[in-house]
Amino acid sequence: MSAIRVTVWNEGRHEKKNKAVQSVYPNGIHEVIAEGLRAEGFAVRMATLDEPEHGLTDAVLAETDVLTWWGHMAHGDVDDAIVEKVHQRVLEGMGLIVLHSGHFSKIFKRLMGTSGNLMWREHGTAGEKERLWVTNPAHPIAAGLETYFELPNEEMYGEPFGIPEPDSLVFVSWFAGGEVFRSGACWYRDQGKVFYFRPGHETFPTYYDANVRRVIANAVRWAAPTNGPRVIVANRPVPLENI
Ligand code: ZN
Repeated sequence: MSAIRVTVWNEGRHEKKNKAVQSVYPNGIHEVIAEGLRAEGFAVRMATLDEPEHGLTDAVLAETDVLTWWGHMAHGDVDDAIVEKVHQRVLEGMGLIVLHSGHFSKIFKRLMGTSGNLMWREHGTAGEKERLWVTNPAHPIAAGLETYFELPNEEMYGEPFGIPEPDSLVFVSWFAGGEVFRSGACWYRDQGKVFYFRPGHETFPTYYDANVRRVIANAVRWAAPTNGPRVIVANRPVPLENI
């Protein structure tokens, strides 16, 4: 079987403007996410906002089995025409993994049909502890994990989260401040699959974490196209032999 083709998309603006982010991700958040996926044997390419067509040309999208999406400060700069193309590819079966502040991206809100709103807290430069509990141990995205894992330094996201009821909820996070959050959630959209995964604030080394890398790799395998029947509109003739 040929390798799953992953495109790691990153806004890439914090890394250009913020020294604290540069010190954690000197070559960009996308490079560290891609590094983790290459180690799993996926065929990985990268694309960023400031490339022509945000690096998501028709050819790139056609050759992408799973797209990962990290954005934060420039959601509004993403061209609606590109969002439309990504949306169509998801409906056709391309997997989409939306990371952290991507909860406010055009593509996520469009696929969900909801606000994506949530409560958040940046608690000083060290953030706070996040404990991610596995709530569906049978789900392929939880493969190889313990009952929970922790990230010592993260930003807090709290409920209520403006998403539709997930088709499967794989993780719920607890934060040292006391909040909980649906931090790993799956949806089906026509032939496509969407996974939202919460951790990944730009000033913390979250994408170097072995458990986070395992989750993203598992999510790529889960979200990859399955070649099910196409969802089309067509006039279906009456099968006369059955009448
Ligand atoms: Zn953040």
